[in-house]
Amino acid sequence: MTPLPAADAFHKCLEENSPRVISQGRYVPVYRGRLDLAEVQQADLRSLLGTIQKVMNEALAARKRVPDHIDDLPMYFDYIDSDFPSATAFRDDNNYAFIGITLPMIYDLGDICVRLSQAESIAKILSIETTAELRDGLHAVLFNHLLSFIVTHEFTHHVHGHVLTHQSESTFFSEFTNGNNGANLDRQAEEADADGYAAYHILANFIDTDARRNISAVLKLDSVSPNALDQAVFSCFVIVAGAFLFSRPPCDISKENIYTLTHPPQAARLDYLMRHSINWCKENRPALVEWMTNERFQSIMRAVAEATWGMNGGVNWDSQTVFLRSDEGTTYFQDLSKRIDAQKAALGAEGRKEPPSTNADT
Ligand SMILES: [Zn+2]
Repeated sequence: MTPLPAADAFHKCLEENSPRVISQGRYVPVYRGRLDLAEVQQADLRSLLGTIQKVMNEALAARKRVPDHIDDLPMYFDYIDSDFPSATAFRDDNNYAFIGITLPMIYDLGDICVRLSQAESIAKILSIETTAELRDGLHAVLFNHLLSFIVTHEFTHHVHGHVLTHQSESTFFSEFTNGNNGANLDRQAEEADADGYAAYHILANFIDTDARRNISAVLKLDSVSPNALDQAVFSCFVIVAGAFLFSRPPCDISKENIYTLTHPPQAARLDYLMRHSINWCKENRPALVEWMTNERFQSIMRAVAEATWGMNGGVNWDSQTVFLRSDEGTTYFQDLSKRIDAQKAALGAEGRKEPPSTNADT
């Protein structure tokens, strides 16, 4: 039988398999199907989403095939018609691997990047001026970093076999922003792995390719040294990754529930993500390791927290940090690290050069 075109298969899979939730007293599908971009009212947003989709699908089609990618079907990225902010990885029977993102999630990412691009403290960190033109440019650069991070995170769920492994329990590997329970440490290790692998890809793509030249032109950093440009591009990634995690309402954690979450607590995710980022820098831009001191990282996170304050429901993750520094938190980190290492070993990831996943200050 001739396979369906990717867009039709994407829609069919969503329509037939969506999980359902109770919303306003009704039992409704989380994913209604493929979003028809013609239904997006704002012309500029519709055009931007179309361009992003084209670029993403071209990049996915042109990706390098590597031996430790264990589930590597033709990949297709599109938008999902849904009332919920989410991104998801799912596949059909051996034809396509899908990456989908809902419009409410796009709005959330856009909101984060508007706030960051308007913040004086963020412009200061990047050593750029605060003109309207540069703010618009910064918004585009940050949005591109953040959306690429989300899509690459979902990409990892496919190529590292997470979607395939869990297909009998659920069709969708989803990033809900709430309702974080009902899973286990295996799932959390997969999420940490997806964050880490995405960090590797993003830094390689934005620092080590022609993309840096575009960023330099948009942010008017043409006259700065190559090292200073590296610092700005690296900072953009740390800013968006930190802002994305910080803007999610933090869940309460305890020694009872921490092992049943779908994702590690945000503070732990950021810690793991930064380890991978620093490890990429060690291999490719050692000067950035020295430059990204703990003090600098903390000042970036303070600026990020200030810019996105309120999106997280007005609750920061201090209580998560306190828990993760306790004896129980230390045990949790050790257990998570062991699980991540076991999954890596199973993946046969010898060439992946990932950092040791030991505990550290969070
Ligand atoms: Zn995920």
